Amino acid sequence: MRLTDDHRSFAATVRSVVDTQINPYVDQWESEGIFPAHDLFPQLGKYGLLGIEYDPEDGGEGADHSYTMVACEELGRIAAGGVSMAINVQANMATPSLAKYGSKELRQKYLKPAIAGEMVAAIGVTEPDTGSDVSALRTRATRDGDDWVITGRKLYITNGVQADWVCLLVRTSDEGGYRGMSQIVVPTSSEGFSVARKLDKLGNRSSDTAELVLDEVRVPVANTIGTIGRGFQQQMEQFVIERMSAAYSIVGQIDVALEKTREYLKQRTTFGKPLASHQYIAFRLTELAARNDLLRHHNQAVCEALMAGEDITRMASIAKWEAGRLVREVADMCLQFHGGIGYMEETWTARMFRDARLASIGGGADEVMLQVIARIDGYPLG
Ligand SMILES: Cc1cc2nc3c(=O)[nH]c(=O)nc-3n(C[C@H](O)[C@H](O)[C@H](O)COP(=O)(O)OP(=O)(O)OC[C@H]3O[C@@H](n4cnc5c(N)ncnc54)[C@H](O)[C@@H]3O)c2cc1C
Repeated sequence: MRLTDDHRSFAATVRSVVDTQINPYVDQWESEGIFPAHDLFPQLGKYGLLGIEYDPEDGGEGADHSYTMVACEELGRIAAGGVSMAINVQANMATPSLAKYGSKELRQKYLKPAIAGEMVAAIGVTEPDTGSDVSALRTRATRDGDDWVITGRKLYITNGVQADWVCLLVRTSDEGGYRGMSQIVVPTSSEGFSVARKLDKLGNRSSDTAELVLDEVRVPVANTIGTIGRGFQQQMEQFVIERMSAAYSIVGQIDVALEKTREYLKQRTTFGKPLASHQYIAFRLTELAARNDLLRHHNQAVCEALMAGEDITRMASIAKWEAGRLVREVADMCLQFHGGIGYMEETWTARMFRDARLASIGGGADEVMLQVIARIDGYPLG
């Protein structure tokens, strides 16, 4: 895929937002265990970063998916994985279904303010008893006249403490399995909705991750996104965008890690020469950079296929799986070649080592990606 001058100019704008409005503050946010979403998101909204592909009628930019790819890659350069993940949740994980399938009223009420950064959004799929197997989720919405009455729990919900609304995947019938689920916009101010706890995590510490409790929460049936009963299928489509936004961001995260490591290793000497001049180190880092280039090109191929309207499920699963594996290896090698200082909290490598671990779990674990690919390839996994 050939990027244009327009893409490059957009990338420069996003990089400048990251350098001036995000990176100077992330150390503080990491130590506080939360970032100020209601302050940061309106700033991102002004630059159009929270609704790149969405309809201008809803406040979006109406751009094509290649600009999402470019933006995510630049957001990957944020010096804390928690902040880039939280932005991705707002822009590419909690809102795509609403943008594509939501009614005009629902989009005006919830999508428009999310694109402007005035409302914080979260995506609620995972539950205490089930994550990888979405077909086993139990949170239930029962119809009562023009309302849904929802009871259940959601776990590990990013932006969960600060969210104004959650795109919630729930059961709306007793059919079981993949049938009878719906996506519903649930305002967090609803009676019966509560944040049970803010979770203490290994990494991505600046991102607030919550356990949510819904105890007979009443919301209008009109808050259903798209067709009642099609929630699983809509969420699977949303997952594809989620997985690609993660894979795009990881390319940027790896770029910056390898750049910083190379510069450090040019200064640091052992056995009379800079570490970067030891062939083993230079080759090892070059190998990782080459693999990141392959991932970038694969991502670009997925982006083109998506824009052409093709089914990208297999390609996106490969991207997410490889991105998770690669970023963990890069984080490990960058820390290793820094030596003792790399293990210290004062060096960025320590945070990256912790943050990168999530990439192979969140949004579909590596094994789930392999399951999707293996099934498409015809293995009888059941
Ligand atoms: C920091 C963080 C943020 C998150 N944010 C959100 C969010 O915003 N919204 C949301 O809904 N969820 C969120 N999640 C949840 C995340 O998507 C799940 O943790 C993930 O899908 C795995 O589900 P699980 O934790 O229930 O693990 P389980 O489903 O119990 O699986 C455990 C492990 O088993 C292995 N495994 C699973 N299935 C198979 C298989 N078929 N074959 C072989 N091995 C397998 C995998 O290694 C997996 O990691 C977040 C998680 C974390 C840690």
